[in-house]
This record gives sequence, C-alpha cells and structure tokens, in this order.
Amino acid sequence: MNKIKILPDEIINQISAGEVLDRPSSAVKELIENSIDASSKKISIFVRDGGKSEIIVIDDGNGISKQELELAVTRHATSKLSEKKIDSLSFLGFRGEALPSIGSVSEMTIKSNNNNDQNGTMIEITSGIKKKIRPVNHRKGTTVSIKKLFFSTPARLKFLKSDNYESLLIKRTVQKLALCNFHIDFDLTINNKKAILTKNQKSDDKKKMLERRLATLLGDEFLENSILINEISENFKFRGYLGVPTFHHSNTNNQFLFVNGRVVQDKSMNVIFKLAYRDFMSYDRFPQLVLFIECPPDEVDVNVHPTKNEMRFRNLNYLRSKILKIFKSNLANAGHKASTLNTVKAIEKFSFKSNQKTFLQLKDEKFNDENLDNLNNNFDKNNINELDDKTASPFPLGYAKSQFHKTYIISETDKGIIITDQHAAHERLVYEKLKKDFFEKKIKTQILLIPVVIDIDSSVIKSIEKKLKLASEYGVKMEIFGKTSVIVRELPHILANCNVKKLVIDLIEELVDTNDSKSVENEINKICSKMACHGSIRAGRDLQIDEMNDLLRKMELTPFSGQCNHGRPTYVELKIGDIEKLFGRK
Ligand code: ADP
Ligand code: MG
Repeated sequence: MNKIKILPDEIINQISAGEVLDRPSSAVKELIENSIDASSKKISIFVRDGGKSEIIVIDDGNGISKQELELAVTRHATSKLSEKKIDSLSFLGFRGEALPSIGSVSEMTIKSNNNNDQNGTMIEITSGIKKKIRPVNHRKGTTVSIKKLFFSTPARLKFLKSDNYESLLIKRTVQKLALCNFHIDFDLTINNKKAILTKNQKSDDKKKMLERRLATLLGDEFLENSILINEISENFKFRGYLGVPTFHHSNTNNQFLFVNGRVVQDKSMNVIFKLAYRDFMSYDRFPQLVLFIECPPDEVDVNVHPTKNEMRFRNLNYLRSKILKIFKSNLANAGHKASTLNTVKAIEKFSFKSNQKTFLQLKDEKFNDENLDNLNNNFDKNNINELDDKTASPFPLGYAKSQFHKTYIISETDKGIIITDQHAAHERLVYEKLKKDFFEKKIKTQILLIPVVIDIDSSVIKSIEKKLKLASEYGVKMEIFGKTSVIVRELPHILANCNVKKLVIDLIEELVDTNDSKSVENEINKICSKMACHGSIRAGRDLQIDEMNDLLRKMELTPFSGQCNHGRPTYVELKIGDIEKLFGRK
C-alpha cells in the first residue's frame, strides 16, 4: 500500500469543485454572490450553451487590487472573514473556495480594478494552473469569464443535462438572486437573447422597489393574486407576499424563501408552507409565495452545505408554528379574495376569437425547458382585472340578482357581476362555522324528533365504540343499538336539514380511520369538512333573493370563503370592462 500523504492543492481544489459546483448554474451563483458581496449596483451575466461553453459575469463593485488578485484564486483565501468567528457573517461568501474551485475545472480569466481609473489587472487559470498576472484596460469592478467548464472532469460533464435545461436552471438562479437583492440591477443574456432585465428607478420606498421587482420577474399576476405580509414576532421578521389559495401551482418552484439575505432551498420549509395552506388546497397543488425571514445570525447555521443553499434553524419546530400561525391569520384576513386567474379563464371560455395564448399555456411554458424564449412573457395585463379588495364598497360580493340552473347566484357589484357557486360557497361557510364552534366548544345541537337507527357492519361497531365520545364533541350524539346498528339522537343545529343516514355513515368511516398517530388538527379539519359537505345547500335547490343575499353577506364575513374546502373557487368575477370586451365594445 502507498504511504499516507497530504493531497496536492490541484486535487483538493477539484474535490472541492465537486462539492461547490455541481453544474453551470452553481458557478453563476457563486460569481453573482461575489459581485453582491463587493457592493455592486449592476451585475450583467452572459451565458452560452447552458453555461457549458461560456459564462461571463461583469460587475461594477469594489474590485480586487493588483496585490490581491492572486490571493483571490488561492484556496481558503477570503476577504470576508475577519479574524472573528464564522457565526456572525455579513457576506454571502466566506469559505474562499469558489474561485479556486472554478479555476481548477475550467479556463478562467479574472479582470479587475479597485480604483476609479482604467488600470486594471488580469489573471488566467487553466485547470488550476495560474499564469502570471498582467495589466489590462478595465474600469472599476470585476469581470470573471469561464470557458469550457468541467472540460477537465469528463465525469461531471456527462451528468449535465441539455443546454436548454441548464439555461433554465441558470435563469432560475439569477431570478432568485435578483428577487432577494432588489436594490441591484440584473441583466442576464442567454445565447445572445435577453432572459432577464431589471430596471430600478431609485426609490426610497423599499416596498415599491420590491413590488416592481416582483412584477418584472414573476409577472403582474403574481402581485395581483397575493397578499402582503409584514409581521414581527419576537426576534423573527417575516415579510413577503403570499399567493391567495386559488392561485396555486403544480410544484414548489414558485416558492421563494430568503433568510437573512440568502437564497434558501429547503424541502422542510416547503412542507411547512404546504401545511399552512392545507385547508384550502388540494394535495397535489402548491402555494406560490415570496418570503423574507430575518433573524439573529445565531438562530441559523449557514455552514451546513458547501453551496450554502441549505440552512439549519436552531429551532425548526418553533419556526414552523410561527409560520403556520402567521400564514393562516394573514390568509384569513384576505377573506374572500379569490384568484383573478379564474376571471381570465372565464373570459377565455367566452371569447371565441382569441388568437392569444392563454395565461395557463404561458404559465406551463414557463417551466418547460424547451421554451426559454417565453420565459419573460407576461400576460397582457389588460386581460386581467384585479379583484380589488381595497375599494370602499361595503358589500364586495354585490347584490343578488338571480339564480340560474338552481346552482349559481348572479350578483351585481359597482364594477361588474359575480357568479357564485352556491354549494361550494355554503360548504365553506358551514365548514368554518363547525370548526369555530368546535374549538370554542359551543356546537349547538338539535334533538331529533324521531331518532334515526342506522345499520352498521358488526366489525365496525367494535372499533367505533370508543369514538362515540369524540363524535359527541362534534355535536353528533349517538349510541350503539343492538349488535349491528347505532341510534342517532342529536345533530349539530347547522346540519339539521341534512340526510342523517348518509352523514353518519360518512362520519363513522372517518372515525374508524382516526388513530392517535394522526394529528388532532388534521382530524378535526377532515371531520368538519365531511360534515360540511352534508350540511350544505345542494346545487339544484331554488333560493330566494333574500337567501342569496344572506349567503353573500356571510361569505364576506367568513375567512377563506374565496375557495371551497377542495381549493376550487367559490365565485368568479367579471368586470364591466371584461364584458365590454366580450362584446367588442372595447
Ligand atoms: P469567498 O467569496 O468565500 O471569499 P471566493 O473564492 O468566491 O471566496 O472569492 C475569493 C475572494 O476574492 C473574495 O473574498 C473577494 O475578496 C474576492 N472577490 C471575488 N470576486 C470578487 C468580485 N466580483 N469583486 C470583488 N472582489 C471579489
Ligand atoms: Mg465567493
């Protein structure tokens, strides 16, 4: 066997490149983070062939002095950690690994100048071999160019995907960094085409700047369909925009989380977000949101992964309960706000002359690797009208005018008409009421004039015996009756008119399924949801105008009434402008 010896620097750098750089987008991330750390105001990125043949990052930051240029590409050399500890970091970088790692697996050139003149310096490295530094004409700031990334590590090269896909990953990387650093201008060009271009008119109003950035990167529809949150809880700050529940997405790609100015990608956080929306979204859809968390540095450990994409929270449980609470209360305050996308869908259904791509088509294309050109397409804003909940009307859902097909209520508002699905809406109301009453322990019950006997499988009888008490807490009072049946004596008042048999059979099924391993809250939601479905006005029932108005007024007062328990909208709105468009008046 060979003797033990310390590895040469070249090999160490290649090994570390394997950790820091898994693909071109991670090189882009490292270079942009360096530019951010150097207080740049504008960062331009040029990429060819998914970053495989060329990546160039140009900034106008502080630059690197002639004396330090060689150190910058030396392993574990950094200007960002003063003698102190690594838990109070104010920079994105600190490991001193990126530049030497990239230099070990590519042809890299760095040109830089830290003065306000043209007397810059440059250094070249090919597969880790440094050439002598030379003077070069370069203004203040830094330009790093990387050619033939991974050409000396063919194994890594093989793992890369198509140029289009790698480009998409780069675009997403820049998008996240640009969202988080909305005071800096970003300009991304992929194969000579603009992929991202942000423009910052300087403003003291941070909220305005962020909103402008959100609109540029995620489209106007994101802003229109989200609610602002701004909460401080002990030493945590939560700011951002939460998409309304009906504005959901097929995956977690549109969940952007930033902690203390860092982009964080963390599956456990995605799970928490999903949990917070659980009540209003079907299991296969995901919320869209942008969340900035700020907390004292000792609450998080950023040094758990070389790419620093992941983060460890000192107390994840504590953070989880905070996020759940804040999300739920903010979504509740948003009340009946439903996604404007439904309106768009409606209009498109109505209009027969549409040669425009639908919003949904565009949206799907956004995440399809073969369609980079469409990435920046924002839907024609004129087609989306904001459901503006800031307006003064005391009755935002308007006055009921009529019912049609015994299923939908049409109401008139100042700005147009609203079509409400009576069953979906009522179901939501009953659900929220049952849940509220249950938690406040004041479910009103009604004694049945004639108790109802229901036959049940004898094997089921055994397992529900212990759960009758639980059922009675929900207002359903029943007893075992003989060997194969139960007798129901009382029901929640709100469910008085429902089909008792069906309700109880459904409820028993749910109870049999209940076991201690399931979270109590989850159970409560499910049981209430089952009961609500039975207690709601069916589609197909005639309603009087008064009843319709009553339903609309209750919706306005009920949290989350913009969608039913299954995440479908309970109503859609058509603005007068939209209707005029349908008739070609506009
Ligand atoms: P780290 O960012 O962890 O310090 P890097 O290898 O990424 O390590 O960079 C090494 C050093 O080079 C940085 O600490 C910084 O001083 C300098 N540097 C790198 N990129 C830039 C840049 N764009 N502008 C100014 N200085 C830079
Ligand atoms: Mg760095």
